Amino acid sequence: MIALLAGGTGGAKLARGMLDVVGPAELAVIANTADDVEVYGVHVSPDPDLVTYWLADSIDPRGFGIVGDTWEVMDALAAAGRPTWFRLGDRDLAMCLIRTERLLAGERLTEAHAAVARAAGVEARVLPMSDERVRTEVTAGGRRRPFQEFMIVDRASSPIEAVILAGVEEARPTPDVLDAIRTADAVVIGPSNPVISIGPILAVPGVREALRESAAPVVAVSPFVRGRAVKGPTEPFMEYAGLSRGALGIVESYGEVIDGVVCDEQLADAPVPALACDTLMDEPDSRRRVAEDVLAFASRLDR
Ligand code: GDP
Repeated sequence: MIALLAGGTGGAKLARGMLDVVGPAELAVIANTADDVEVYGVHVSPDPDLVTYWLADSIDPRGFGIVGDTWEVMDALAAAGRPTWFRLGDRDLAMCLIRTERLLAGERLTEAHAAVARAAGVEARVLPMSDERVRTEVTAGGRRRPFQEFMIVDRASSPIEAVILAGVEEARPTPDVLDAIRTADAVVIGPSNPVISIGPILAVPGVREALRESAAPVVAVSPFVRGRAVKGPTEPFMEYAGLSRGALGIVESYGEVIDGVVCDEQLADAPVPALACDTLMDEPDSRRRVAEDVLAFASRLDR
């Protein structure tokens, strides 16, 4: 059993590699929901959805949304003079409608996302980190904004002054998440943004304790490839958090949570065992190979 902590891009690509290596019955992906947003009357879960679309081989080559999607609803909203800043394709919107209908019927977010995964043909478990509402907000240029508005409307243009995980103190990990961690043979922290993708998962009270108590080794994969983040705002958020750029910053960020790190750098004096290997996952073969290397490394680690 593999439990993989993931945001939407780096973690999702590794999830796709893991699927090839261990199969759907052995894979549980614990996904960040602090980027979730309510828009057009639907509940959007960007990270769980990206993981799901990657696992379904339906991710759009842009890196988000569903391949071959159409934009009739967004065009109709725009024609009606409604804001369309959060661009959701028609099929992507259909997935959000499935989730929202279930939530309105009183189901947990976990159950509602399971319905989305089933609709997408995904058999592996994609688990929201919590059923409770947690929302990342960013203060930048003196203004506090929900994360998606900071990224999309403001284009992340001002220096980050604060990151707030609203609601996290009241949130709890789901029984499904705790079970995935408890029964894992290896826990892998995907190469996701440590501050805004993995940070919220680890900040849900009870997750760090569950990782500490698990018999499984915990291995982090660095999102830095040849010294730089492949895409997205990992670098400015790590700078804001006072973390070094590169794999060392990943080790600093996760501290005692991890038993090992996988990166493409030679880490001298790393406080945990490190495996150096190519971690770029731009092709199915490389995604599978990184997953194999990570699991082989984890199996050699002591707890
Ligand atoms: P987001 O929610 O879409 O921002 O996704 P994540 O937080 O999961 O992923 C963003 C991180 O994925 C960035 O820091 C990238 O450097 C990292 N990333 C993307 N592709 C790769 C890859 O092929 N290999 C590695 N090691 N990291 C990657």
